[in-house]
Amino acid sequence: MDDKHQSVVLHINARKVNIDVQEYPIFCGICSSYFDKLRVHSGSRYGQGACLQCDCGAEINLRDGDNIVDWLGIYASKESEVASVKFNFTELFSLQKKHFNLIKGALGYDIYKIRPNSEISLSELIWEIEAFADLEVVPEKASIPAPACVEDWLGLLQMCRLKKS
Ligand SMILES: [Zn+2]
Repeated sequence: MDDKHQSVVLHINARKVNIDVQEYPIFCGICSSYFDKLRVHSGSRYGQGACLQCDCGAEINLRDGDNIVDWLGIYASKESEVASVKFNFTELFSLQKKHFNLIKGALGYDIYKIRPNSEISLSELIWEIEAFADLEVVPEKASIPAPACVEDWLGLLQMCRLKKS
């Protein structure tokens, strides 16, 4: 189980869940590889993130949302070469409205009714849903390197899909 409970935080209002990703992968488009470790967000001002160095020698600049990190732009450059990638975590981590609706349909857990206008970490939400529905999730790999809570979340969604079919 994930011991970094704050790696993904959900801000829930009556109609929408906004996500704040505090631990995310870094991809270098010059050598086409991920950094060994996820990066812990150190706070950014006005959407300007940190400047990092890849082992291949490329310089990596980050850009993210102003207040919360729900997307990340990663710009790599080395000599005259440049390469960029944008991660939309709401999509990549399956934290869209349709996914919360899937959980509601399969397990009866309606996040908008149970936790309106609140904040909860994804880890805590998963524990709450496990207790609510009396189940234990089995993690699934994400399409990009992701915090453990995201892999638990993907496992939970997979259980919901199987339950519905
Ligand atoms: Zn590189």
